[in-house]
Amino acid sequence: MRRPHVLSEAFRTILCIAAHPDDIEFTIAGSVARWTGEGRTVVFCLVTTGGAGTNEHTPSGDGLIPRRERELHDAARILGVKDVVLLGYQDGVVEPTLGLRRDLTRVIRRHRPDVVVCSDPTVRWYGNEYLNHPDHRAVASAALDAVFPSAETPGIFAELLAEGLPPHKVKEAFVSGAEPADTWIDIGDTLELKCAALKAHASQVGTGEWVEPLLREWAVRDGKRAGVRAAEAYRRMVLWRSE
Ligand SMILES: [Zn+2]
Repeated sequence: MRRPHVLSEAFRTILCIAAHPDDIEFTIAGSVARWTGEGRTVVFCLVTTGGAGTNEHTPSGDGLIPRRERELHDAARILGVKDVVLLGYQDGVVEPTLGLRRDLTRVIRRHRPDVVVCSDPTVRWYGNEYLNHPDHRAVASAALDAVFPSAETPGIFAELLAEGLPPHKVKEAFVSGAEPADTWIDIGDTLELKCAALKAHASQVGTGEWVEPLLREWAVRDGKRAGVRAAEAYRRMVLWRSE
């Protein structure tokens, strides 16, 4: 039987990079709440403003960007996250450019995380009903390229050295939504916080009656793979070993 993974005691700072203001809450927020509860520092980096997130709850885009920013900060507070970095890219049209990779490299060098969490840039679709959003793929692709080789190589984006940002080696990358997964984080104690954090995005989920059943269904499915009640699944890349 597989067992859930426990992050190394030595890893104190975790950087989560995502495209849209609610992506983290849909996917990895149970792990985030667990890690902050263990006394670690978690930093969120959101690439877009979420300005294209109109739906039946928020039919008009007027005032949507500041509203989504407030919701994001509320969700972060629920999850114990104090640091939120917003890059301000336009929602819906993100590409994995060198400019985006440079911006993410800057965030990594500034916050110097042991672990970076992002989604899987190689997944074109999930099942038969969801085509993975192009912003998700673009951001994940640039994020992994920033983790390696850009963040640790002084000769890449040398202008960052002039900004006072020396190279930094990220020790592990956790890729969520990867198929197949190989690592599971137990979120039995934090699934409720994950649901509350997603519900904070009221412009996207409305009153969110469906939030708890849906997130629970996913957590139970992934938990079964690791022999626990509830889990979130990742592919874990070990980029550095202490011994
Ligand atoms: Zn998204």
